[in-house]
Amino acid sequence: MDKDLKNKSFGESLEIATEHKQKSFCGKYLFEFIHQKNVNIIDDITPLSKLFRSQLIETGFLISKIDLLEQHDDPDGTIKFVFGLQGGTRIESVRLKDGDRNTLCISTQAGCRMGCKFCATGQLEFQRNLTAAEIVDQVYQAERLCGRIDNLVYMGMGEPLDNFDNVMRSVEILNDKHGRNIGIRHITISTCGLPEEIKQLALSPIRPRLAVSLHAPDDVIRAKIMRVGKKYHITEILESLKKYQGATGKRVTIEYCMIDGVNDQIGHAHSLTRLLRPLKVNVNLIELNPFPGCRYSASSPGQIQQFAKVLSDSGIETVIRFKRGRSIKAACGQLGATWLK
Ligand code: SF4
Repeated sequence: MDKDLKNKSFGESLEIATEHKQKSFCGKYLFEFIHQKNVNIIDDITPLSKLFRSQLIETGFLISKIDLLEQHDDPDGTIKFVFGLQGGTRIESVRLKDGDRNTLCISTQAGCRMGCKFCATGQLEFQRNLTAAEIVDQVYQAERLCGRIDNLVYMGMGEPLDNFDNVMRSVEILNDKHGRNIGIRHITISTCGLPEEIKQLALSPIRPRLAVSLHAPDDVIRAKIMRVGKKYHITEILESLKKYQGATGKRVTIEYCMIDGVNDQIGHAHSLTRLLRPLKVNVNLIELNPFPGCRYSASSPGQIQQFAKVLSDSGIETVIRFKRGRSIKAACGQLGATWLK
């Protein structure tokens, strides 16, 4: 049995209390102290009786914590945190500042199995899935250092839907009104497009926003730059997005990394427009961010502008994302870049 109290949902915390012959409000204290007050020591949950606290400790319950190893600040306000997990694994999270609002980009896996060729994380060896506790603790640790996090994007290291259960558990915990209470509209999961898991997400009781990294206007180009492109056709992904939109009514963000001479031609923009027309989407165009050993280079600003114009003229809301955190290797696709040989 998993003994980490930080992994437990609100309902499970109540059950732990009643299983120990305590009133259910003791479970509420457990959840609130861990997820609102960032308490990491069972004995510090002082509203609980001494007897209950020692019972929890004696039966092996604990509250896990990730360790801040490094903090890197970019002049543009971006901060990269390097966290150490149990067993010596390292992951990174990024705080982005927009006016007085903080967005945190969090990791869900150490390494990634998807192997996208324009992404530093994809070049690292996959180590393991993160637990829900390790995912939510990135938020709590960042908040200690830079204040309340308003928006969360599951867009850091790893493919969130490849760690579906732990990711959805972390969303449930972060969204719970007895804990951090981050509104579901302020939580976005970004996937490279796993059709079955997208359909599963559509049926889930908690449905965060969805962003899909498409990055190509056809299967041939996609398979060239994304290993997952060899497994799933774009039509399968779009079909799953229709199901998601049918169930949720939510707009989906399409992420598109602009790679010089690969996917950035005007003809590609027209093909992309035709693909996306049946869906309710907005498109983020991202200039490729380099990392050591990356075989691709970024499209020119002029090429990106022209590409964006084709999409916008056809009625697709399109935004060119600014480069953020490049000097500290915290920009999109750069997480883990400093660990590449
Ligand atoms: S882009 Fe995302 S899915 Fe692809 S390798 Fe990087 S972290 Fe994994």
